[in-house]
Amino acid sequence: MVTTKIKFEADADGAVVNHQPTSGNNAVTSVIKQSLDAKACEDLIAAIQSSDSFLDNNERNQTRGQVFFPLTDGFEKARMSVWNYDAAGMPLAIIKCANANHVSLAITFARKNAVKVCVHTAGAHSSHAVVNNCVVIDLSLMRDVHVNPEGRTATVAGGAMIGDVDKATKPHGLALPMGHVHHTGVAGMALNATSGVGYLCRTRNLTVTYLKGATLVMADGNVTHISEKHNSELLWAIRGAGSNFGVAIEMVFSLTRVAPKVYAGDLVKFGKGTGPGKLTCCCCINSKETREELVMKWFQFFDAKDTPIECSSLLVIAPHGPVISRLCYAPVEKDALKPANDIKKEAQEAFAPLADFGFTLMNTTKMMDYWDGVQKMGEFSPSYYYQKAANMSAIPEDNLLSMIDELCSYAESCPVTNMGSGIIVMPLGGKLETLEPGSIPTAEVYSQMKWWFIVITEFPRGPKDPEVRAKCVQWVRDVYKVVEPYASKDEGRQKDYWSDVLGDIYGSKENIAKLQYLKAKYDGDNFFSWNRNILPKKSDKE
Ligand SMILES: Cc1cc2nc3c(=O)[nH]c(=O)nc-3n(C[C@H](O)[C@H](O)[C@H](O)COP(=O)(O)OP(=O)(O)OC[C@H]3O[C@@H](n4cnc5c(N)ncnc54)[C@H](O)[C@@H]3O)c2cc1C
Repeated sequence: MVTTKIKFEADADGAVVNHQPTSGNNAVTSVIKQSLDAKACEDLIAAIQSSDSFLDNNERNQTRGQVFFPLTDGFEKARMSVWNYDAAGMPLAIIKCANANHVSLAITFARKNAVKVCVHTAGAHSSHAVVNNCVVIDLSLMRDVHVNPEGRTATVAGGAMIGDVDKATKPHGLALPMGHVHHTGVAGMALNATSGVGYLCRTRNLTVTYLKGATLVMADGNVTHISEKHNSELLWAIRGAGSNFGVAIEMVFSLTRVAPKVYAGDLVKFGKGTGPGKLTCCCCINSKETREELVMKWFQFFDAKDTPIECSSLLVIAPHGPVISRLCYAPVEKDALKPANDIKKEAQEAFAPLADFGFTLMNTTKMMDYWDGVQKMGEFSPSYYYQKAANMSAIPEDNLLSMIDELCSYAESCPVTNMGSGIIVMPLGGKLETLEPGSIPTAEVYSQMKWWFIVITEFPRGPKDPEVRAKCVQWVRDVYKVVEPYASKDEGRQKDYWSDVLGDIYGSKENIAKLQYLKAKYDGDNFFSWNRNILPKKSDKE
């Protein structure tokens, strides 16, 4: 129980380091000008405790809420319950919410103390999950997913992860197309700009195109239901920009049918003179082709007009290591019930140009379950990371050559070699090209962009080895510069947002104006600002 005013030293750093603890786990020594009102803290604890007897109408969620303040038991554990420890800031309070009422209490508490909130799911993959000086609305207790197989919808709690949805939809042969990594949060992925790209998006579109409704706790603490019939202007806005408008307690998604078994796995190849093949005794395990040629082949394959949209992939250029083509062939919905052997044959034929090019040291491709196979191929354990991402337009062939040369040469200079570091590219296109401009806030970008790019490093010792950390951050920034000329531009954003997608994700001026207007209407004082932020603006004259 907090009985005194909580005070911390201030630090006045800029955007990038603003929410980085200055001394690693001992972050209590860092930051914070504000102090919390002790009475408000006690009231909050009492209100959360008493509201635990409050249950949702259907009494679904009976978990208890929890409140943590700095220096109290459980605070440090709750603070570090994020995917990227390097981005864990020093908040004023962490409120683990179990229902809408808790979220509302957290908002009221933050307003009373004149501080901002940040929000995170159980995934907590973003750099805004736990922010300095904020009240954290931690939704990790809220992970329920309910599937209506007849209506083909899933109602997903605000804190759920991709894997929670896959687990619930699998028994019905249904799926929600989402990201590649099962431990990413659904709300963060769908509502905060990236909109959800993954193995199914080339055949089925972005996750947000499946969003049919949501229940949000708004900036005034009130609960609002959003659907095509109610607050439909907000339904448009939350499909990609939702975290600007409220805290989603629940989201309702439609679902798609997926084949029980799809074709997926990795092709692992070493380019000539790289990896173990640098040694003469091991050169037989390498391709005759160079790493640059292997990478070029992958780009050409996904650039070709006749490559089926069922083919998806992640290309990984591993630092000091192989070129990995992680493949997935999942039929379009109408072909979901095709015999598995037919799907396998189609997939092998389709991917043959990639499989047959260069020497494949390891080939793990096979027919596998979508939900527990494909969706579990990507695993990045919580650690210390730095990453930058971009949506890239089509790259002219000449520029592509030099871009690939540069990326491959950076792969040889990466300061670390581990499974959490690499240069990763995925092909967009397919169904995404059919997105109608303005249909969702992110439609323009995803209909025009050709590649999704991430460069990431893991430095497991974090602040204990500041030199390695600095080298990793610099390496990521250097690699990023190689692709920056092709990244969608974003004049409004901060120069070096810690780890978000660069590019004006909200597309056209019209979209941005509409979002700014809605932001002014529903969150005029920009209370929800730790997100891919939209500044409130009523009209151009203001
Ligand atoms: C390893 C890794 C892999 C990734 N792979 C993919 C991928 O394949 N496809 C893809 O599209 N993206 C991918 N991303 C990007 C990812 O979608 C974003 O980083 C996303 O913001 C993470 O969501 P989260 O819920 O885990 O993060 P969180 O930190 O929990 O949330 C991110 C932000 O979303 C908002 N938010 C969270 N919950 C709510 C809520 N209930 N209501 C309102 N706002 C909320 C908040 O503003 C919060 O700051 C990946 C990121 C990482 C780090």
